[in-house]
Amino acid sequence: MTKLLPTSTAGSLPKPSWLAQPETLWSPWKLEGDELIAGKKDALKLSLHDQLTAGIDIVSDGEQTRQHFVTTFIEHLEGVDFKNRKTVKIRNRYDASVPVVVGDVVRKQSVFVDDAAFLRSQTKQPIKWALPGPMTMIDTLYDARYKSREKLAWEFAKILNQEARELEAAGVDIIQFDEPAFNVFFDEVNEWGVAALERAIEGLSCETAVHICYGYGIKANTDWKKTLGSEWRQYEEIFPTIRQSNIDIVSLECQSSHVPMDLIELIRGKKVMVGAIDVATKTIETPQDVASTLRKALQFVDADKLYPCTNCGMTPLPQWVANGKLKALSAGADIVRRELS
Ligand SMILES: [Zn+2]
Repeated sequence: MTKLLPTSTAGSLPKPSWLAQPETLWSPWKLEGDELIAGKKDALKLSLHDQLTAGIDIVSDGEQTRQHFVTTFIEHLEGVDFKNRKTVKIRNRYDASVPVVVGDVVRKQSVFVDDAAFLRSQTKQPIKWALPGPMTMIDTLYDARYKSREKLAWEFAKILNQEARELEAAGVDIIQFDEPAFNVFFDEVNEWGVAALERAIEGLSCETAVHICYGYGIKANTDWKKTLGSEWRQYEEIFPTIRQSNIDIVSLECQSSHVPMDLIELIRGKKVMVGAIDVATKTIETPQDVASTLRKALQFVDADKLYPCTNCGMTPLPQWVANGKLKALSAGADIVRRELS
């Protein structure tokens, strides 16, 4: 990007009420078959329109094409049984009924490439596409085949690389891997998590990002945050390893979080998507709130490497709130951009 402080969103945006239940995370689709395929395309166009109207620079599909940021991808793979599920604890935090890995995991065909090509055809703005990260994928499954988190992550990394190469060929400018699990399993991140991520981006010439947040604003996550104390220093455990990796961009949760901003110094040299919008509240930030967070971040990120962003996805928020937040993000970035020029 040649524009200073290009804005983007970390992940999902609200879906129209005819496609999925509003303000509901992981809502089932309201359409099926061909109607669903057409409906997702229409929703993508609406979401793109909202982003462009708000002045967002790096746009996405708003995740209108998926029900869940991990399982929608896994549904397209072989070797995973979605019928006979098991209950596991996700990120050591909440129980969920998850699919079971029963055989070799294989990607027989592309998952999101057609959707990404469609987004590409709709805009000349830079586009970002999100995929789940290998560690977060294995944390959303029960593994009855490989019996090793590391081995399964490695298999997923190879599959993600196949998908990422095709997304790049479809014209995606930034491929983002969502790794909220990086905020929980520090030893594994340092031992093999970042290495698996590097396997997933092998051979890519587009930019790559890793999104590491404290999760959606759901109760299990807000309750967990209350246990983290007054200073959230989780990023400190993994930033030195990430700094040495080939990942170009790191997407972080900074607005209303208790992450000490100076931790960003530990990834000096990386581009940083600074979360300047809190997704766990319906209160819309003012442009000044956004500008204030960006100014704090600028102490630790060079201006040409700072990408104003949201903390995480906004699916659970009402449409008008999400749109208000997008506009605030844009206006806040504009304030700081003018101060810098
Ligand atoms: Zn997130």
